[in-house]
Amino acid sequence: MRFLSTRGDAPPLNFAAAFASGLAPDGGLYVPESLPDITPLLADGQLPYPELAACFFEFFDTDKTPAETDELMARSFRAFPDPDNAAPLVQIDDNTFVLELFHGPTLAFKDFGLQLVGNLFADQIARTGYPINVLGATSGDTGSAAIHGLAEQDGARVFILYPQGRISELQERQMTCTGAENIFPIAIDGSFDDAQRIVKELFNDLNFKTEASLSAVNSINLARILAQSIYYLHAAARLPAPAHFVVPTGNFGNVLAGWLVARMGLPTAGFTVATNQNDLLHRLFTTGHYQSGKTKPSLAPSMDIQIASNFERFLYYQLDGDGAATSATMAEVAAGHGIELPNFDPGTFAATRSDDEAILRNIATAKERYGYLPDPHTACAFESIDPAETTVILATAHPAKFPATIEKATGDHPTHPTLEALKNKTPQNATLPATAEAVRSYLEANALT
Ligand SMILES: *Cc1c(COP(=O)(O)O)cnc(C)c1O
Repeated sequence: MRFLSTRGDAPPLNFAAAFASGLAPDGGLYVPESLPDITPLLADGQLPYPELAACFFEFFDTDKTPAETDELMARSFRAFPDPDNAAPLVQIDDNTFVLELFHGPTLAFKDFGLQLVGNLFADQIARTGYPINVLGATSGDTGSAAIHGLAEQDGARVFILYPQGRISELQERQMTCTGAENIFPIAIDGSFDDAQRIVKELFNDLNFKTEASLSAVNSINLARILAQSIYYLHAAARLPAPAHFVVPTGNFGNVLAGWLVARMGLPTAGFTVATNQNDLLHRLFTTGHYQSGKTKPSLAPSMDIQIASNFERFLYYQLDGDGAATSATMAEVAAGHGIELPNFDPGTFAATRSDDEAILRNIATAKERYGYLPDPHTACAFESIDPAETTVILATAHPAKFPATIEKATGDHPTHPTLEALKNKTPQNATLPATAEAVRSYLEANALT
């Protein structure tokens, strides 16, 4: 299997090379040359999670032997308390289920992608003998998941930008309290979109990218998207009927992963994109119009996004793989212009929007009606559930990561031992202005060469 750039102007690469490259040299994102038919996997029933992951991954990384892929996946789930059931499916009503994606080391779904990514980087370092410097931006959970995927890894340093004061204290402590010498959390004086823009700008400077051996870890990473497709298969194998998946999303990563696996043959009853008040994707899928606005901090901070990084992959498929047209449309988006989604069909994704008031109300209602306590991101997915339809809500974080919001909504104060242990540790981080120059100088001083 080879991977192509969505902008159609970069050489096709195998999985390892596309993974290592992050953004394609033409500025596009890598997509599989063709989507495989995964229906043979559906007949395998309830495989242990790492085995299912290996079977799925073999379609894409066709250069590895099955034994190598098995070993990679065994490593990538060993930090989960029950690797064989890494994503427990919990029934909360007759037809309503929660797919709990928060049992990894940082208690958010991003561990699914980033434990794997950490191991792929470790393999790359071993194979090439070259060090890597991972650079990423986080709205809260990506950073800690990336850090936990690579802490203490020889040959790797991790630089994570985050918006100062806009992520929860526990999220920040998960990044700043690892005690690992190869980890460099950087608070910037700006929003998540600023952080992401700086990262994009540094990656687009191809000389600097090469000189500083930069590797990407943000939500455009190909391996992350593929890793996220796997839990849709895991859930489907445990359900009697094709399900409607409700997915809290901001960057359009998590729900894209499901939409792709549906295009590979997984029967589903559809998808709902659940946003917070930063409702770019809600507007897109109800009107067909894509226009980013100003980010407004919300109670679901990991979805405070007005630039959906993975939108470009979806656009590419809407344009039937036309790289030139994708490139031209993304140039409009980059210039801040609104665009009309080509071939818009309002039936492709349902969409909901939850402002802060709705998030608090949804948490309280979920507790009352189902006896289930969702975190503020997952609460967005409780906005509009049809009790008659087989529904799977993707739970993206453990509620104990957001104790203040849960307390406000219900009076409960959820805790988790992993988070309690952080409270006695000493944080370490840098603070920088929100400019590419400042981050570039910091990298020049601290990156491995
Ligand atoms: C990152 C994150 C999201 C949004 O994920 P997308 O990549 O935007 O789909 C939702 N909830 C939590 C808890 C997150 O960390």
